[in-house]
Amino acid sequence: MTVVQLQFTALDEISKVHERLRKTFESGITRPLQYRRTQLLQIAHFIQDNWKAIEDAIISDYGRSRSEMSELKTVFDHAIHAAQDLEEWSKPEKPKVEDWLAGWDPTIYPTPKGTVLIISPWNAPYFTTFSPLIGAMAAGCTALIKPSELCPATSQLLADLFPKYFDSNAYAVVNGAVAEATRLLELKWDHILYTGAPKVARIVAAAAAKHLTPLTLELGGKCPVLIDDDVDIDLVAKRVLYGKQFIAGQACISPDYVLVPPGKMETLIAAFKKYYSTFWPKGPLNEGYSRIIAPHHHARLKNMLEHTKGDIVLGGEIEGSERIAPTIVKNVPLDDILMEEEIFGPILPLIQVSGMEEALNIVKELSSPLAIYVFTNSEKLKETLLNSTASGALCFNDTLSHAGVRELPFGGIGESGYGCHGGKYSFDTFTHRRSYANVPPAGEPFMAMRYPPCKDEVYQA
Ligand code: NAD
Repeated sequence: MTVVQLQFTALDEISKVHERLRKTFESGITRPLQYRRTQLLQIAHFIQDNWKAIEDAIISDYGRSRSEMSELKTVFDHAIHAAQDLEEWSKPEKPKVEDWLAGWDPTIYPTPKGTVLIISPWNAPYFTTFSPLIGAMAAGCTALIKPSELCPATSQLLADLFPKYFDSNAYAVVNGAVAEATRLLELKWDHILYTGAPKVARIVAAAAAKHLTPLTLELGGKCPVLIDDDVDIDLVAKRVLYGKQFIAGQACISPDYVLVPPGKMETLIAAFKKYYSTFWPKGPLNEGYSRIIAPHHHARLKNMLEHTKGDIVLGGEIEGSERIAPTIVKNVPLDDILMEEEIFGPILPLIQVSGMEEALNIVKELSSPLAIYVFTNSEKLKETLLNSTASGALCFNDTLSHAGVRELPFGGIGESGYGCHGGKYSFDTFTHRRSYANVPPAGEPFMAMRYPPCKDEVYQA
């Protein structure tokens, strides 16, 4: 493994970049649709021309397999569709108004918010950087990207390639860690979109509040899996294990824990064992299987495995300070270390519950996650979940898949964040809906009532 040295942006450079982007926005150059479309199509070229280099960088950062690069195709598709749909999205809207107001020409103009900041994490670096950027470009904003220092090869490649594909006066990358992010947050932005951990999100929100900057927070949480009595446990095991092992459980929508109904625990474990040996005939650590991004995250996960009160029934192998095999732990109590915070790694606790009622109570008591996964054939249960729980998304009978639907918003609620991006939702995030009215002087005779001095007549509806 070659470790790429990430070149941090000089601190005194940061405000100059900000100023450059702001001036460009003020010049109006990013407003014409043709300009925006060209930049959006450049994203598609960026991905297409550099696919292998991008994959190599992600592999260098954390050893993902090439079959786990779906985010590149997602970004490519989103950019193409945004370029196609841009005209429709940007059209002024004419709201339906009462007849007497029609002469005022009430209109809603989608207008770009201005110069925006996008801070992204390491775990899905392309989706979390480009899905918002596509929206910012489509909206006509200028944008600064601050990728994660924990994926140095990816972040360096972004910094190297950006000026070759995009208008450098409008879109820029600043690389660095806390000091650089802190400097960025001291500046005034017209919107900030932050993706990462809830702890840092609180720092970002406090900084944004100083300038009254609107904010989108894309965070994480513990995404539960609930299982109804009447489902095919074999399929549950296959789909949950797939979702958990994807990039070694380091996805914000990874299934975090499973609530197992009575009488199903041993069948479920047997099915997990079956798919474990089908997915990795030579064992996961001997096949293309992601590393844990950084030693401190590896140590955090190792500590969880050392201190859980549950029993490891599958996996548990730990390799150096880099990899941990997908690990399934049963008999996990609710006060276990595995239930304290988002696991964000390849460990899956199985919790025995007495039935769906207890499962629902557990889900409601923990803070609202980015996704809830429910395996069921019951329409009644689907309705109960819709009406009685809160989460960014609700996905039935699979894990992760909802995130592949471009037409759905991607975002959380409560502890998993607020606001969203993805497709048109990214455009909306960076767009101000500006109200417009043109009150004709000819209407003056009908307005006499509103002018002082006060009159005693009563307005009648
Ligand atoms: P990270 O460590 O890469 O941090 C994210 C970004 O925050 C980086 O760019 C980093 O430089 C910056 N940062 C760190 N400290 C900062 C500070 N003090 N001030 C300002 N910026 C700072 O990633 P992470 O936080 O470990 O990411 C993992 C978390 O992100 C998980 O909780 C995961 O669920 C969540 N996540 C959410 C989504 C989503 O779309 N909702 C997607 C991916 C990850």
